[in-house]
Amino acid sequence: MRSILILLLLVCVSLNAASIQVVKKESAKSAPTLLLMGGIQGDEPGGFNATDIFLMHYKILSGSVWVVPVLNRYSMLRNHRGVYGDLNRKFAYLSRKDPEYPLIQSIKKIITAKEVSAILHLHDGSGFYRPRYESPLLNPRRWGNSSIIDQDELPAVRFGHLKQVSQGIIANINKSLLKPLHRYYIRNTHTARGNVEMEKALTYFAIKHKKPAFANEASKELPLPSRVYYHLLAIEGLLKELGIKYSKDFNLSPENLYKLINDPSLSVVLNNNTILPLYGLRNHLNFFPLPKNTPIEQIPLNSKSYILGLLPRQKQVWLKYGNKLMTRLHPLYLPFDHSLKSVKLEIDGKLEQSAPARIIEVHKSFKVLVKEGYRVNVIGYTHNGASDEAGFTIRYKDLDKRFSIDAKGRIYRIEFYKNQAFSGMVLARFL
Ligand SMILES: [Zn+2]
Repeated sequence: MRSILILLLLVCVSLNAASIQVVKKESAKSAPTLLLMGGIQGDEPGGFNATDIFLMHYKILSGSVWVVPVLNRYSMLRNHRGVYGDLNRKFAYLSRKDPEYPLIQSIKKIITAKEVSAILHLHDGSGFYRPRYESPLLNPRRWGNSSIIDQDELPAVRFGHLKQVSQGIIANINKSLLKPLHRYYIRNTHTARGNVEMEKALTYFAIKHKKPAFANEASKELPLPSRVYYHLLAIEGLLKELGIKYSKDFNLSPENLYKLINDPSLSVVLNNNTILPLYGLRNHLNFFPLPKNTPIEQIPLNSKSYILGLLPRQKQVWLKYGNKLMTRLHPLYLPFDHSLKSVKLEIDGKLEQSAPARIIEVHKSFKVLVKEGYRVNVIGYTHNGASDEAGFTIRYKDLDKRFSIDAKGRIYRIEFYKNQAFSGMVLARFL
């Protein structure tokens, strides 16, 4: 049993004050370690969707990968390159007064961690980089589809043959191109020779601290699944160069990536007691219970995805999945009660126990059993005079379709209250 446990992937998540999320995928043999980062610019979804897919669908079999799914979550939620300026120009000098000073400090700390053997930084870049001018879209000033290094060599450092490693990365990409136009080239920015802009960037900070660092750019000309495709090919190429072994649970293609990004089974648990599927929701959800006196950004979210967030927008709270808006919540701010651990339901005549924040599947009808001390409110069900809807058998035709949470009218909220406090939600999905 013990040996089986050791083989299991170890995943640990830590969030610090500057809200940098580092997810560590470590095997029993945990060196070398790749640090993989996306989303330093909030409007480059190829990068942060690639880290998200990597976290959800890859396993590390030897060595480790530390993943920062999105460096600039604040800007990502706002579909903005950098609300406080370009975060990737703040690594050389930064005033302590800069609102992102603490964030930069925590990124620097991760980069310089002694475990980190190499760094890959994912970007979405314009056009297609070409070493010689071919057209306005294909020329040396463009960044798209290139592997970026700051210099050829980082002397006396393991994996410091940057050019050679980068050649390995692009070889892995170029053997699986979707079109000849997409061909990858190495772009050496020769930063130390006086490239003033690149001196301020993350990879050069890493180089100066003796960390081999690479950036991968996927072209903004490409649709999202194709950008993610090239980022993942770059990641796999670098893992090969570093000798880190991995497996994944899908075949790499833009078609499959489209399905994984738009996975209808994705959901999010809010406050540990409320659940929403990500897809198929109505554009607006009214009277949605959120905790009183809790800042929106401190509401706990749990999901398979790492790029979700809540964005306050005037009186609404938007649920974002990367740059995508999934729904607008119109909150009903309530005191929250966390005493409810499980509820009993009769689903199509069968008794079942459920914790809050679950989605139950119903063919014909459901009934919530009376639970001492709690009141039940099925949103969209109105029974004459009843203030507690426990004990009623509820069929699909008993529900007012306007109150479903999904656009198709199949999913309904079952809410639990203790006195005036909200105790949790179960969703009933009619099949
Ligand atoms: Zn970028």
